[in-house]
Amino acid sequence: MVISMESLWRQQTEKIESNHYFLQGSIRESHWDVVVIGAGMAGILIAYYLQKQGKRVLIVEAKTIASGQTERTTAKITSQHGLKYAELIRTVGEEKAKLYAMANQQAISQYARLIKDEKIDCQFEWVDSYLYSISQKYILMEEAKVAKHFGIQAEFVEKTELPFAVKGAVRFENQAQFFPLKFIKSLSEELNVLEHTLVTEIKDCWVVTDKGILTADDIVVTTHYPIKDVPGFYFLRQHQERSYVLALANTEPIKNMYYGIDENGLSFRQAGEYLLLGGSSHRTGHIYGKKGNTRTRSVSAYGHLREAAKNYFPKAKEVAYWSAQDCMPHDGIPFIGKYSVFTPHLYVATGFQKWGMSTSMIAAKVICDEICGEKNPYESLFTPQRLLVRAGSKELLKDIGISAGNLTKGLFGKRRCSHMGCALIWNPETKSWDCPCHGSRFDEDGKVLDNPAKKDIS
Ligand SMILES: Cc1cc2nc3c(=O)[nH]c(=O)nc-3n(C[C@H](O)[C@H](O)[C@H](O)COP(=O)(O)OP(=O)(O)OC[C@H]3O[C@@H](n4cnc5c(N)ncnc54)[C@H](O)[C@@H]3O)c2cc1C
Repeated sequence: MVISMESLWRQQTEKIESNHYFLQGSIRESHWDVVVIGAGMAGILIAYYLQKQGKRVLIVEAKTIASGQTERTTAKITSQHGLKYAELIRTVGEEKAKLYAMANQQAISQYARLIKDEKIDCQFEWVDSYLYSISQKYILMEEAKVAKHFGIQAEFVEKTELPFAVKGAVRFENQAQFFPLKFIKSLSEELNVLEHTLVTEIKDCWVVTDKGILTADDIVVTTHYPIKDVPGFYFLRQHQERSYVLALANTEPIKNMYYGIDENGLSFRQAGEYLLLGGSSHRTGHIYGKKGNTRTRSVSAYGHLREAAKNYFPKAKEVAYWSAQDCMPHDGIPFIGKYSVFTPHLYVATGFQKWGMSTSMIAAKVICDEICGEKNPYESLFTPQRLLVRAGSKELLKDIGISAGNLTKGLFGKRRCSHMGCALIWNPETKSWDCPCHGSRFDEDGKVLDNPAKKDIS
């Protein structure tokens, strides 16, 4: 049997079509109320809610709808974002930590409402979400206590349905999972999406593409990693992390969703007859299990997952494997809102830290309210204009160190990134040239796979 490198979602979804009627006019030099750049989960939801408010919206997409990180997600819709809440209290204070919990809890209900209202068949299911550890207990007890204090139905437990013993787990009740591409396929039918159109520049109200120039009253950047470096300076405020997924057939079904907090912890969720097993995270541009030139683990990223599959589900058959990456902001809070103080009509949604299902929904509500002149209770929490100095300064210094090191590394003979010129690293698992500084990726022939780079390399 051939094992697919496409995500399960992509394999099981027919071509996603959008509204083509708008193409009858000339796209070049046309004017829109809002242009959204990027048709991933964030762009699609933002465009949908803006259109519901009566705005004329165009999404401009470099490739095809949901062909970015969104098609490789594991699609848990949850407010349980790893060990989050006790840490947020320490870094940004109790008030903001509570707002974070409320925003993400509301995002789950918002999905449920939208799916019901639009009658979307996307295998949406209410399940519980568990954060587990095989070695730690007290840190999970603290997390459960804080989450409960913030109004989440949370509880510390000592038993789960996982095929191995845990020291403890935090259960969040009434979280959800779905089939993301079926959801997007349904929402896209009524949206105007211009596919295969690369945005090369944004200047005031102008959106410059490789097919012509558009104008808009407001512009929203949902390109995963923001495509404009200045202003905004997002390349100094977040880095990217890559993770890997296996789809397994022939396993005992797992009813709920799981996320391990230990080093090399695993993620689990059932998707129909298949079990998704995820993990092996590492900074993009580094090699899993390698520090400098020294191997710290004998297995590769996929090897780690395959070993776990063999141990815990000996009868399992691998049907697909894939990987994806996400942006990790230094203070652990996504950037949603005005791109910078100097750009009143330019917005951004990024820094989803591998929880972009709930945070794309938050982005849709916050940005839609901002553009429509409504007050949103979460605007100040997610504003990209917040000061990161206290909460993220250690991460910032680390990132600057990595960037400086890779900018000057092996000045001759190394393949270099077209974004800022850092030395690239060959990742044999994804067969790509990856940048350790900001996470751009290129295929074997030098074609851009992932932002922020826009130009291919030779
Ligand atoms: C392994 C893994 C598992 C995950 N699992 C979960 C999960 O269970 N739950 C959860 O909440 N989150 C999860 N996430 C995170 C989630 O998948 C992402 O946060 C989310 O999909 C990001 O969506 P997006 O719309 O921001 O980006 P994308 O889906 O990447 O969309 C960006 C789009 O912009 C387009 N684009 C880029 N540059 C340009 C340009 N110059 N011009 C025009 N278009 C452009 C791209 O082609 C792309 O289609 C996971 C992440 C990883 C890595």
